Amino acid sequence: MQTFDLPLTKLPEGFGCARSSSLRSTSTTFETCLDARDRFRGERCCVICGWDIAVQHCQIIRQAEWHTWRALKARQWLPPNATHHGQHDPRNGMLMCANHRLAFENYWFYIRYSPEKRRFIFIDQSDDGYYRKYHGKAIALDVSDRYAPFATLFLIHEQRVRGHWPFAPVVPDLPQDTAWQDWIVSSGYLRDPASTDSPLFQRDWPQHDPTSSEASSFHPVSGGPATSTGLALNDDVVAQILDATRNSLSWKTSVLENTSWEGTAEENIEKYQRVMGDDNPLR
Ligand SMILES: [Zn+2]
Repeated sequence: MQTFDLPLTKLPEGFGCARSSSLRSTSTTFETCLDARDRFRGERCCVICGWDIAVQHCQIIRQAEWHTWRALKARQWLPPNATHHGQHDPRNGMLMCANHRLAFENYWFYIRYSPEKRRFIFIDQSDDGYYRKYHGKAIALDVSDRYAPFATLFLIHEQRVRGHWPFAPVVPDLPQDTAWQDWIVSSGYLRDPASTDSPLFQRDWPQHDPTSSEASSFHPVSGGPATSTGLALNDDVVAQILDATRNSLSWKTSVLENTSWEGTAEENIEKYQRVMGDDNPLR
């Protein structure tokens, strides 16, 4: 369990990529956080396909759409004290290869967060076959990471993708169970899924024997045949994703980062406990 000194006059150690407030909300912070978060076996990788060459720092809500970010804050789809524009918030970003960045920004696929499965699922809306192998499988984002993307941001992108493919199925077919992307499993990037410990992925070079059959000894939920389980997008689904986002560690960390710690020790403790709730290490 993490401990730290009180009163909280600054973020506890480890609760921010930027140790210096001068780095906060800059492109350097954004890139540094993504480089650390989307790293597998020591290499920065595309969270969709695992490609580790010339990966790019991508925004979910792009800089030019500051008005969308502002509207999301007003509706509490983002923490009310989140950064002003969002272009430097690592929870608005992910690493992708050039190919997947192009497809993402041109609305060929979207990412749906499943609160039930706690996974970010790739949905191939174009259905032209090129991205089919990724369809219905979870990408390499860990919702338990304090810098995990806000799931609500993907809902905005999803609506644009749906509008871009007006004749695609409203409720696409999905496997009954959600497997991880093939490369995540075959590369042994995943820790034991039976463990409740986070993080979910092997971020650094392994401490295990690389000749061991980690990938084959671990059997994630099988993809299985496609079914009509589907992905509805209605008020109930949006409410579930919104609730999950507001209870995520990345939401709470964002609130803490943008909270003033001026005041008495007791006031700061109360603030911290109110934000962290069940994730509160002071308990
Ligand atoms: Zn890729």
